[in-house]
Parts: sequence; C-alpha cells; structure tokens
Amino acid sequence: MNIDVKNKKVLVRVDFNVPLDAKFKITDDTRIRAALPTIKHLLKEGAAVILMSHLGRPQKKLNEDGSINVKKFTLNHLVSHLSKKLRVKVKFADNCAGDSAKKLAKSLKAGEVLLLENTRFHKEESKGDKAFAKKLASLADVYVNDAFGTAHRAHASTTTVAQFFKKGKKSFGFLMLKEIENANKLLNDPARPLTAIIGGAKVSDKILLLERLIDFANNIVIGGGMAYTFIKAKGGSTGNSLVEEDKQKLALRLLAKAKKKGVNIYLPKDSVIADKFAANAKKETKYSMRIRKGWMGLDIGEKAQKEFAAVIESSSSILWNGPMGVFEMPAFAKGTKAIAKSVAKATKKGAFSLVGGGDSVAAVNQMGLSDKVSYVSTGGGAMLEFLEGKQLPGIKAIEG
Ligand code: AMP
Repeated sequence: MNIDVKNKKVLVRVDFNVPLDAKFKITDDTRIRAALPTIKHLLKEGAAVILMSHLGRPQKKLNEDGSINVKKFTLNHLVSHLSKKLRVKVKFADNCAGDSAKKLAKSLKAGEVLLLENTRFHKEESKGDKAFAKKLASLADVYVNDAFGTAHRAHASTTTVAQFFKKGKKSFGFLMLKEIENANKLLNDPARPLTAIIGGAKVSDKILLLERLIDFANNIVIGGGMAYTFIKAKGGSTGNSLVEEDKQKLALRLLAKAKKKGVNIYLPKDSVIADKFAANAKKETKYSMRIRKGWMGLDIGEKAQKEFAAVIESSSSILWNGPMGVFEMPAFAKGTKAIAKSVAKATKKGAFSLVGGGDSVAAVNQMGLSDKVSYVSTGGGAMLEFLEGKQLPGIKAIEG
C-alpha cells in the first residue's frame, strides 16, 4: 500500500460478511481478522478510517411489508467485536449514503474508525450505481479495496466507487495483495509438477476452471460429485450418483484435450457408495465404474485416496478447490480429510499449496490444517474466477 494517508480520510471496502447466530453473535470472525492488518496500518499511518461492507443478502430477505430487515442485517452487530480487535471505539453510521455518514465522516479524526451501515441496504449497491457510488466516494480522500471475496462483483462499493479517486488516491489493501500474489504463484511460472485437485458437486460450475487447468497443470485430480459425470461418460455405471447427463460430451472433450496436451487426469478408482443420500445410509466401497442401481457414490474410496495421495505428495505446486465427497456427513468425509492431510504433507516437503473455494477451505479449517498449507484463500467465487483467467472488476477498478 504505497499511498499517502496521513491526516486523510480513507474509505476502505472490507468483507465483513461474517456468520451470525440467532442472537446476532459472530460465530466465525475470520473475515474480520483478515482485514485487521490493513486497518491497523492505516491507523498507524495517521488516517481516519471509514469502513464499508455488505452483510448477507438483505434485498433477497425483505420484511413482509417490503422493508429492509435492519434488525437481522445491520452491521451494528459487529461494532463491539471490531472495537475490541482494534482497541479503538468504533463509531457507527446507520445509513452508508445518508446524512449520518456524511456528518460522522466529516468530524472523524486521524486514528478514529467509522463503520458504515450495510451497503446492500441500498438496491443501488449491486447495480453498481454511479450516483450512489459517488455519495460513498464523497466521504473520503482515498479509497482502499481489501474485499477480495467480492472482487468478482461489479458493485458500487467494490468497483464503481474507485472511478471517483485518481491514481495515487486508490489502492489495494494487504489482504487483496496477498490473494493476488498467491494466485499468481500458481498462474505465473509455478514450480512443477503442478497438481490441481478439483472436487465439489457439479462439473457445470467448474467447466471454465477445468478448461484453463488443462492449459497449465501437469496433473488434475477429480473427486466429489463431479467425478461421476466423467465416469459415466467413460462408460461406467454410476447408479444414482450425481451425474449431469448434458455434460457428458463435454467431459469426453476435456479428457481428450488433456490427453493431447499430456495432462494426467485422475478419477477415483473406487468410491464409498450409499443406498441413500443420508448420514445413516448403508455404505460399501466399490469400483467407481461399477456402481449398482439404486446406489450412489458419496466419497472417494481407499484406492483412490492412495492414488491421489501419491500424485499430490510428489507435486511442487498444488491447487485445491472443492471437497472429495459429501464431507458435511462424517460417514462421507474420509476422502476429503485424507486429501487435506496429503496437501499438508506435500507442503511440509516444500510444495506451494493454495486452498481456494468455500468447502475445501471449511474442510482444512475443520481439521485444523489451515496453517499447514501455504495459503488459504478468503474468496471462493472470486478466487475461482481469478484462476479461470478472468479480470475481476474490483481489481481492474484499482489498476485502471
Ligand atoms: P462446490 O460448492 O461445487 O464445491 O460443492 C460442494 C458440495 O459438493 C458439498 O456440499 C458436497 O456435499 C457436495 N458433494 C461432494 N461430493 C459429492 C457427491 N459425491 N455427491 C453429491 N454431492 C457431493
């Protein structure tokens, strides 16, 4: 952050979209902690800091009379926790684009922090509305974007607002810089072999990523529900497993493209199959190509775990996105856990590993392995789009 902020008002877009319980207590403050280095740096450099964020999807969950459910979605729920973390009494403006924000921002002094109300209380936010963005911009001299998790959205507070600040008056925060730097470690001249582990529910969500990976990975390990579309396309019987019938041609095309390019694709040789999609289902381990009628693959089996582990543990760069099975149910979490351990092992041996995408991040956190991998991304969708090679609007808006 090479930017002069002394005695300046700095508007910082953070991602404070944290989970809250029924009593509005924060249940996981990872996102708040991730933004602290930037905020603390700005305060130390003599800035007055104005924070803005969204929380949840208030426009999709309106009160019965059509009004915003302020009680549920207010960022006021975060004020006391944030004050403790920053050791500064955080002020709060109950309308990010109203008089309260204007007044409080105007009188805010160096070393003080003001948190603005949920940007998504205004419909204009997700439309990227210019007039609304201008109101936000008018509160400050400098704009810092540290919300990587929303960098793939062209919203007013993440993208449009930046056009009201000249070069030298806008910057990425430390979290954004770290995310970009780590993703680029995989995209630009990575240590090889590079292995991508791709899992999760559907092939259709990851088509672009798979296409791109075939251009630059050495190995692609495929697990999770999406593996069964490939297995069926190859002539396997998949029973009731999650198969996207209309994606089988695509799966065959991806396999052929990988072969042509010399990229190894690994599918799970065996699967833990179940007689229903439930935690208490009957289960067996069978070859993935031979799943019986009425049964479905819900996790990778031990043969697959072993084969995947050997590939992962002999890699020098690793990307992991998506679980290997329905890991939310303990009965089908073993494959994902085994892969998390393999990624940690490879990292210990010197590999660079990036875990990105909500559910694989949750798995690594659950197992307490987040500090045993090189980097855990805070942005699911944003990281996916970055790796797909898309230019993210929130990044473009700062870089110009
Ligand atoms: P994604 O958001 O695409 O990464 O998908 C994550 C979801 O995929 C998780 O909720 C998993 O339960 C689900 N999933 C993983 N493996 C399977 C499977 N074999 N069958 C059905 N769903 C799966």
